Amino acid sequence: MRILCLALSTRAMSTTSVVSNLESVRARVPKEATLIAVSKTKPIELIAAAASAGHQDFGENYVQELVEKAEALTDIRWHFIGRLQSNKVKLLCSAPNLFAVHTIHNEKLANALQKQWELKDAPPLNVFVQVNTSGEESKGGCEPADAPGLALAVKACPNLNLLGLMCIGKYSGAEGDASPDFIVLRECRAAAANALEVPEDSLALSMGMSHDFESALEHGATHVRVGSTIFGARSYAT
Ligand SMILES: *Cc1c(COP(=O)(O)O)cnc(C)c1O
Repeated sequence: MRILCLALSTRAMSTTSVVSNLESVRARVPKEATLIAVSKTKPIELIAAAASAGHQDFGENYVQELVEKAEALTDIRWHFIGRLQSNKVKLLCSAPNLFAVHTIHNEKLANALQKQWELKDAPPLNVFVQVNTSGEESKGGCEPADAPGLALAVKACPNLNLLGLMCIGKYSGAEGDASPDFIVLRECRAAAANALEVPEDSLALSMGMSHDFESALEHGATHVRVGSTIFGARSYAT
């Protein structure tokens, strides 16, 4: 079944639909890849239901919202996938169980995160370098050509653990296939791996959302971020 959620209504989904949507998506994601259930704007009860069904990885876009949810729900690995401003770094780092930050777009931000995380008695924080693969102004991330340099800068931060690269693909229609973005991100990974002198497959690829995660997986995604297909449409555009 390709189309899991036809509901375009903004009514909250039931916990049973969320769990069954989650199971259906999970069945389409290979075991080696990480499915991040993107729960932005969605209520705690729905996240709790998905967590009780055994799901661990959840993604949020807004710092304040992630912190509040992380304080309410334990046993979750929180992924921050939104645009991050330096003045929110301290608050973000206060979130319990923050597992990874996917949106490092420049060296200044990497250094701010390093400085803050250093103060914690915790293992290095997992991070991804975000690349603006589509060149759209609305999208965050560094220029593809800057990805290797930024990866090197992150690698130099002792309290950050570079997991890989991330992009938000360009949505290109109902059967949207963001494959040009996925190809660009793979090329960036090759260049970054070369600069870091590590094997390419030691760097993860966070790419693919509800409409294109299967295409992303075909292009080598290791982390897919799926929101509306699991939790239903959001009531405001994000
Ligand atoms: C909202 C969001 C997602 C999930 O989008 P859906 O289309 O609802 O699956 C994935 N990644 C990022 C960065 C997002 O902001």
